[in-house]
Amino acid sequence: MTNNCLSGKTALVTGCGRGIGKAIAMTLSNAGADIILNDIDKEAVGLLSEQINATGRRTVIHTGSIGLKKDVEKLFSIARKEFHHLDILVNNAGITRDNMLLKMTDQEWDQVIDINLKGVFYCTRQAAAMMKDQTYGRIINLTSVSALMGNPGQVNYTASKAGVIGLTKTLARELARYQITVNAVAPGFIETPMTETIPDPIKQTIISGIPLGRAGSPQDVANLVRFLSSDDSSYVTGQVISCNGGLYT
Ligand code: NAD
Repeated sequence: MTNNCLSGKTALVTGCGRGIGKAIAMTLSNAGADIILNDIDKEAVGLLSEQINATGRRTVIHTGSIGLKKDVEKLFSIARKEFHHLDILVNNAGITRDNMLLKMTDQEWDQVIDINLKGVFYCTRQAAAMMKDQTYGRIINLTSVSALMGNPGQVNYTASKAGVIGLTKTLARELARYQITVNAVAPGFIETPMTETIPDPIKQTIISGIPLGRAGSPQDVANLVRFLSSDDSSYVTGQVISCNGGLYT
């Protein structure tokens, strides 16, 4: 993979205001891609946009929720108007609303499914329509080790992320005829704002179960996404690739 392996490409990264999404947006832009930045946090994407523009890459910002169809329609109308093509979609935005089953509310269930699963459906449907006409595309979906192992307190989250795996495998088959690849990345325990609220003793227990002996960084995940975004991965589709330090094999 060369330093400029994504030169001339346009990538859209959802939920890239912080954490893993931010590292992905920076990494893809460092590899030469122009980036459409989406997040609900206007200030965060504004700052990231300035950082990326300073490296010479072009950015366009969209502030809105991928869980709302009208926001996603706006996001892709911006992509069409500003760039006319889309090569890479990274469905990164995701939330947790943890609770044990017997305490979980309908709202906690619905919010997580709406953003983590339905949002991926909305964005992927729009992106595939653009990529089909180009006969080229890379779609990368963030799932989770929790979807593979199960995780008490996360029935909504694991169901949404397992749904993303099913969606990935089916779309890899549906879209292959257009030379669009669809893969999922399953991070393990990654240090981001999503995981920083976990109490320290629990964090230490999780880390002690990771064979490589450390939590992952957002950059660890972004490096894998860069590979899946590049032409080096052109014969890889329908796969769920773990990035978890050996936590689950
Ligand atoms: P994070 O909470 O640190 O960041 C998520 C970003 O998504 C935030 O900037 C947030 O504003 C944005 N966002 C939330 N709802 C949105 C919406 N409706 N529309 C657009 N943007 C929205 O999370 P993270 O740890 O960086 O996780 C990124 C992805 O990786 C998620 O899909 C998550 O489920 C997955 N993941 C994370 C871990 C981990 O250990 N951190 C492990 C496995 C999978």
